[in-house]
Amino acid sequence: MFVPLRTPKPHEAIDADWSNREGALTNGELSSSDAGLLGYFKRVHRQEFAEPNPKMDCAAAAAIKQLKAQRNHTRDTFLWLALAERLASKGYPARWMLDYFTPRCPLCGSIAKFPGGKFGSEAICASAEQDHGAVDDAIREKITEFYENAFDDDLEPAVV
Ligand SMILES: [Zn+2]
Repeated sequence: MFVPLRTPKPHEAIDADWSNREGALTNGELSSSDAGLLGYFKRVHRQEFAEPNPKMDCAAAAAIKQLKAQRNHTRDTFLWLALAERLASKGYPARWMLDYFTPRCPLCGSIAKFPGGKFGSEAICASAEQDHGAVDDAIREKITEFYENAFDDDLEPAVV
């Protein structure tokens, strides 16, 4: 089946000015510092919730540290999802975090697109649609491996 390639469009749930956010999972970079990630987490949390949650900030800081210690160059997009799962496992609401990351293909790092137009539909590699195709399973595998190595604990998916 021939599926025409289109220029990937950012999902509307993702801030259109993503690349201009102050310290946004840092401008153009794919792997941010611990401090950059935590700062980003706190900022977007404040956008979602009226009340700051210092306990959740602490849990996020600890989790980011553990994730970063595991593999320094993991792309933010995968670290973010593993972080969401970790926070969910600790009883914090974390599904909102899905609105604040750029989905990427784990095979090539390209932006993933959602032909159905919504999160919840399957992610497709935007660069190598024919070769990589649907990447939901690959993303889950990557997150699971990353999570379990970092926390020495089984991932029971709650978010991804
Ligand atoms: Zn790909």
